[in-house]
Amino acid sequence: MSTTYRNLIGDRWLPSRSGETFVSVSPANHDDVIGEFASSGAEDVDAAVASAHAAFRPWSLTPAPKRGEILFRVARLLAEHKEELSRLMTREMGKVLPEARGDVQEAIDVAYYMAGEGRRLFGQTVPSEMPDKFAMAIRRPIGVVGIITPWNFPVAIPAWKLFPALICGNTAVLKPASDTPGCLVRFVELLMEGGVPAGVVNVVTGSGAKVGNAIVDHPDVRVISFTGHTETGVEISRRAAETLKRVSLELGGKNPIVIWEDADLDLALDSVVWSAFGTSGQRCTAASRLIVHRAVHDEFVEALRKRVAALVLGDGLEDGTDVGPVINDQAVQKIAAYAAIGRNEAELVIGGEPARDGDLARGSFFQPTIFTEVRPEARIAQEEIFGPVTSVIPVDSWEETVEVVNGVRYGLSTSLFTRDVNLAFRSIRDFDSGLGYVNHGTIGAEAHLPFGGVKATGNGHREVGQAALDFFSEWKSVYIDYSGKLQRAQIDMSFVDEVD
Ligand code: NAP
Repeated sequence: MSTTYRNLIGDRWLPSRSGETFVSVSPANHDDVIGEFASSGAEDVDAAVASAHAAFRPWSLTPAPKRGEILFRVARLLAEHKEELSRLMTREMGKVLPEARGDVQEAIDVAYYMAGEGRRLFGQTVPSEMPDKFAMAIRRPIGVVGIITPWNFPVAIPAWKLFPALICGNTAVLKPASDTPGCLVRFVELLMEGGVPAGVVNVVTGSGAKVGNAIVDHPDVRVISFTGHTETGVEISRRAAETLKRVSLELGGKNPIVIWEDADLDLALDSVVWSAFGTSGQRCTAASRLIVHRAVHDEFVEALRKRVAALVLGDGLEDGTDVGPVINDQAVQKIAAYAAIGRNEAELVIGGEPARDGDLARGSFFQPTIFTEVRPEARIAQEEIFGPVTSVIPVDSWEETVEVVNGVRYGLSTSLFTRDVNLAFRSIRDFDSGLGYVNHGTIGAEAHLPFGGVKATGNGHREVGQAALDFFSEWKSVYIDYSGKLQRAQIDMSFVDEVD
């Protein structure tokens, strides 16, 4: 018997208008059904947008410090329910439990950070160019925000988008990925328990083609915040242009870790295992390229092979599991297809096959995989595989390294391991990415700095930090003239003569 979950429209949990449903199952064990969810369509989106639209004015008029107090309560509730939410995430999405806890912790961190912004939401005050005149710019809420999220960070990413949107005074309609609706529904239940008023947050589950498109097309949705594949982002951007929406796209990555000849190899190994195989390689920041100085290539690859051979695959809820499943069987097939391409393009060091031994056969698992002697232009070095597969590209010089790092369409996260401070700073200057690390893997972003990438990783916006406030608010410039007479800016300049 599986539990049935519904859409949240206003303060009511409702089935889809069509009555249709879909199930979410655990990728570690397909017999473990998380629940049955509303398979919704455009009519359900209409109802959710109407609810968010009606809630917009009262919410936007609620003083921001009061909105912040609600987010503080939400943060505390998320912290109280961290273990429960993390276990649900591991069951539904597959990442090992310590990583799921990190995912929920990111949501808690953003909730606290944005709650504090309720007492800031800084604007700008500037001196006016005219006498007896006051000039400032204030932030205004925009309206209904459509939030469309992927499955790989099923709590953190909705939180990254929703909390800044709410503190700025917007209301929202959320559509989770169809692989992880359970995590979002539980997350939103906690928000409601924390005191988010009815209608401020609405949830519609269902497919990208039906629910996602209906949100993007809806004229009363003013903003779209999307994270997912680059191709989906391009399609969304094109559709959203019809109604002149503001759109933030956080898209794919092909992130390199550079291991220079003077690197601390033990530290680099720890970081590579974490960055390439954590979350089974299904992070936008996953280290899918290892650019290794030829002088240390053989030693490094052999040490990495040994470390990877010792990784334990399994259910992420079990102690001792290092690598969980990938999201579903289609993902296994896609990764296997790339492994086959890799065999023709490069040298397989380890892995390369779906993993089906014993209990693994119940779910969707793929062996952690390393290729070496990969040419920078090879498909496995260029395309986002989104699985536990990494490509070693040997290099001989710094110039070649910069060329290889930047020679992909994406630009999310880059990392360099070196003891040379000059090279460290050059990497920050020369590597094309939105996140740059030195002596640290490609993952580890914190909630109070902007997150996002360049090139095909996005369209120039950033998540979290102060940057998120800029995306979710509209600037209004305000001039208050207390001179009591008409003062024409740039024309009436007599006061300048008076000063002279
Ligand atoms: P996806 O297939 O693009 O789906 C993302 C979301 O969009 C899902 O909710 C999906 O719904 C929905 N969707 C699909 N087609 C749509 C359409 N035509 N219109 C509107 N919505 C649509 O991506 P994913 O597989 O969930 O996530 C993996 C990707 O996300 C990778 O490329 C990864 O790099 C990227 N990512 C980027 C970041 C970042 O910050 N840059 C962070 C995490 C992940 P369904 O689930 O119902 O199909």
